[in-house]
Amino acid sequence: MLEVTDLRSAYGRILALKGVSLRVETGEITALVGGNGAGKTTLLRCLSGVQPVAAGRIAFHGEDITAWPAHRRVAAGIAQSPEGRQVFGPLGVEDNLRLGAFRRGRAEAEVGLDRVYDMFPVLRDKRALPAAGLSGGQQQMLAIGRALMSQPRLLLLDEPSMGLAPVLVDQILDAVVALRRAGVTVLLVEQNASAALAIADRGYVMETGHIAHGGTGAALLEDPAVREAYLGL
Ligand code: ATP
Repeated sequence: MLEVTDLRSAYGRILALKGVSLRVETGEITALVGGNGAGKTTLLRCLSGVQPVAAGRIAFHGEDITAWPAHRRVAAGIAQSPEGRQVFGPLGVEDNLRLGAFRRGRAEAEVGLDRVYDMFPVLRDKRALPAAGLSGGQQQMLAIGRALMSQPRLLLLDEPSMGLAPVLVDQILDAVVALRRAGVTVLLVEQNASAALAIADRGYVMETGHIAHGGTGAALLEDPAVREAYLGL
């Protein structure tokens, strides 16, 4: 579905991506793990089109989208749920969700709402309340739900478990598995490397701007070098 080839991106003189190549296969969960500052968020931002690419290529379903603006990528089926959730606090839960469907018609938005509420029933119960009143885990569900409202084929999830208690981390990762079951392909960035690789079909380990290891989730979990350096095992 997605093929990234030798991608480079910089903040001024700081080269954050130094030639990243990876693939995301249709229907799979692909985990991207690695330490702070490795470049994971920068890569997702390049994929959604909000971070300039200095060199390299991004292909989506075989089409070169490297130069496409972000809105065109959303229309083509790529959605990002950003790090830190970034829900609109004073707005109601349902209004936050509707923002994710602003390019879709009213009927499609209604279908999207039903789908999100079926996946996260607590959001249906709280749909009229301001998003700021939700717990951290519920706000994360809202951020994922908002991204789902554009009916993406590829969902880019940036650190969905950040700042959540362990029981909520499990709930969020269960939701990611449910998304795969529903036919959404997921590229999952996580600090919580063991948990992410455990649910992933495929994974990549990033280290200071490049991919250091790649393989199936199971193989990476077994790899002694990965276990020692990244999983603390
Ligand atoms: P984290 O898990 O901490 O979010 P990450 O793997 O997502 O880390 P990035 O946020 O992509 O890493 O950062 C990659 C590199 O780019 C780091 O060296 C970081 O300091 C640098 N960087 C990120 N954002 C900016 C920015 N807005 N301006 C300058 N440098 C930046």
